[in-house]
Amino acid sequence: MAAKQLTAIRGTIVHCLRDPGESNDPDALQSFEDGLLLVEDGRVVEVGPTEELLRRLPSDLSVEDARGRLIIPGFIDVHMHYVQTDVIASYGEQLLSWLNRYTFPTEGRFGDAELAAGTADFFLEELLRNGTTSALVFGSVHPESADAFFAAAQRRRMRMIAGKVLMDRNAPDFLLDTPERGYQESRELIERWHGVDRLSYAITPRFAPTSTEAQLELSGKLAAEFPDVYIQTHVAENRDEVAWVAELFPWSRSYLDVYDRYGLLRERAVYAHCIYLDEQDRERMAESGAAAAFCPTSNTFLGSGLFDYRAARGVGMRVGLATDVGGGTSFSMLKTAAEAYKVAQLSGSTLSAERLLYLATLGSAEALYMEDRIGSFQPGREADFVVVNPGPTPLMERRHGVCDSLSERLFSLFILGDDRNIESTWIQGEKAYQALS
Ligand SMILES: [Zn+2]
Repeated sequence: MAAKQLTAIRGTIVHCLRDPGESNDPDALQSFEDGLLLVEDGRVVEVGPTEELLRRLPSDLSVEDARGRLIIPGFIDVHMHYVQTDVIASYGEQLLSWLNRYTFPTEGRFGDAELAAGTADFFLEELLRNGTTSALVFGSVHPESADAFFAAAQRRRMRMIAGKVLMDRNAPDFLLDTPERGYQESRELIERWHGVDRLSYAITPRFAPTSTEAQLELSGKLAAEFPDVYIQTHVAENRDEVAWVAELFPWSRSYLDVYDRYGLLRERAVYAHCIYLDEQDRERMAESGAAAAFCPTSNTFLGSGLFDYRAARGVGMRVGLATDVGGGTSFSMLKTAAEAYKVAQLSGSTLSAERLLYLATLGSAEALYMEDRIGSFQPGREADFVVVNPGPTPLMERRHGVCDSLSERLFSLFILGDDRNIESTWIQGEKAYQALS
């Protein structure tokens, strides 16, 4: 149960009210150097300066003291595969060979409900340890993998979105469903989990090459039948993959066009990677309300390419930040933000500290159409947040000590930071993780 009583936590509070943009709009962030975050019934009541708030609040109010720490909204990771936890950091391949050599054999084991449950528990604990409180997550082809994940997320009261993978060709037999079976199993999972507590379902075709047209058609049918469920898949990640899609779907104008044909571009549809999109694709993404998942550690690790954040935002696409574990190399959204910064640098643009915070919190919430629930400390939002220790190592402590603005403190946190900075993680106003001191 979420904490019913009014409680408070005191520290340096920072959150985004909107995208700071390329001009780095100073009013896009709200911060209180000595601030108080008030929580009741699992939701944010308000944030403000401690002195002012304490004056009018009951004198017996319980206040958690996190002075010297940053309090920020929980990170939101818009693309991950929990079933790939064990293949993270597998050496030396690009996407298509990486799938065949490492990923498919591992995913093949997830029909085992016990293995799925154990991995889901580990994965969610790892998210909490990294300050991530919500995510959009792939299972394997087995419905058991989705059941296990939802049950584990429900026990932790986390806001999570997940789905069982749909794939009926171009993968080992033990990982294939059929269009009808995939449709039926997805339907049953939607009925069992979608909208239950803080859980949502995502229709999950792996990517165009592993689904027949019949399966993509049924995915579109499912999407039309359940307009408020999510859709998640991959697009335009790797050059060989893009060429393969052009061969498999000779009628398509582009890779993205394949999904468009089957009604899979819409609000609450999240497309991982979006590296090799052209201008028309980007405009179509923006117009349909579909969002991109920017996965920098995965894109550099697998040698896929550089996502163009500036071009995506330039046409009004929604973009969230994502680790893409296990193609990505870290569960940490701090490390992932640092890599996003470097990818932007290599693409001829830049990302300010404020924009990195936005990407990892409110921007990702917007990509999921959940900005009215998570991603900031606006009143009424669900109180998922992280207490960040800015100096857990000698170097970070030293660097933090010479920062003379909040912006500089945030930037060095994003560039140097990782799981060691996460002191505690809170779900609906209750502590769900505490680092050992
Ligand atoms: Zn992925």
